Amino acid sequence: MKKVLVLEDESSIRSFVVINLKRSGYEPIEAETGEQALEQIKKHPDIKVALLDIMLPDIDGFEVCRRIRANNSKMGIIMLTARTQEMDKVTGLMTGADDYVTKPFSPTELTARIDALYRRIGGEEEEDTGEIVRGIFRLNTRNRTLEKNGRRIKLTQVEYSIIKLFMDSPGKALSREEILAAVWGKDYMGEVKIVDVNIRRLRIKIEDDPTNPAYITTVWGYGYKWGF
Ligand code: CA
Repeated sequence: MKKVLVLEDESSIRSFVVINLKRSGYEPIEAETGEQALEQIKKHPDIKVALLDIMLPDIDGFEVCRRIRANNSKMGIIMLTARTQEMDKVTGLMTGADDYVTKPFSPTELTARIDALYRRIGGEEEEDTGEIVRGIFRLNTRNRTLEKNGRRIKLTQVEYSIIKLFMDSPGKALSREEILAAVWGKDYMGEVKIVDVNIRRLRIKIEDDPTNPAYITTVWGYGYKWGF
């Protein structure tokens, strides 16, 4: 069964999500508080995707996300944000979430996002070349790790997919829409802004000076490219 953690303190929203996940063939694992969510993850190490509400009675969803990411870079994390909390999307992604869904959401929208994340985590078959080397970077496509000058850089699944896309086509300008389609899938219904936020986070991880990037460079009015 494909387990999905559902962290939401409002029982009406939680049961709405749970019913719809079951209908789509997932096994929802429920949590009402941040601490409960972290316990459930310990109890069920096979949870692959987590839905995290932000406003909770104990620790907030961002903190839960940070704590999950502290020792799990593989789990897919979707933040459930309120329409009024525009900044939450960015904050959530900066703390390591892969995606966000704005409340109120339709069951179709939510399951489409989870399906997309699951497909990505399940790992579309990689051609088994083993590794891609570009300058001081070495991307291992078997265990999905990145090294810069021999030093391991922790990446989320989304970050890995983005960096692989760049390293596969060095020097080629990729539009934000192209990156969105390649990494999030063609049926992704969210905003293209998610690309920029993830790239900002990646730059913090890989650039010597994130404010003056040398590896992932901006192609003004178009997108980004991998270029020295
Ligand atoms: Ca809440």
